[in-house]
Amino acid sequence: MSENQRVHGRRDIIITALLVGLALATLVIVWTRVRLEETPEQAADAVTVSPDTEWDPNWPALPTVASWVGRSPELARAAYAFAERRGDILQDIPCYCGCEGMGHGNNRDCYVKGRTADGKPIWDGHAFT
Ligand SMILES: [Zn+2]
Repeated sequence: MSENQRVHGRRDIIITALLVGLALATLVIVWTRVRLEETPEQAADAVTVSPDTEWDPNWPALPTVASWVGRSPELARAAYAFAERRGDILQDIPCYCGCEGMGHGNNRDCYVKGRTADGKPIWDGHAFT
């Protein structure tokens, strides 16, 4: 191996190391930015499924309401599931949004407005707002 080849070989190793380092630095920067762009709402939307928040696939689908944009569907399902499964709790919690004019007597009414003939919940989209 000539002196010229040895110098070129060392230069190639240095360039490769710099490119790998640059690629790693770019990955770290992109990953950090993605994490920083997570909104507080999205971070709070991490849902821990419990028997009280478990969605029943036999229930009707939730209404699509634009104001829920930015929050996860999982959080919406967990909230509505809780309202359905633990209506005994929500019926003791008043809602202060002014919905009593809509006939709501408690927070449960903001989620469930009635029952189908076979006992399934009829969702009220009011809780999205
Ligand atoms: Zn209300």
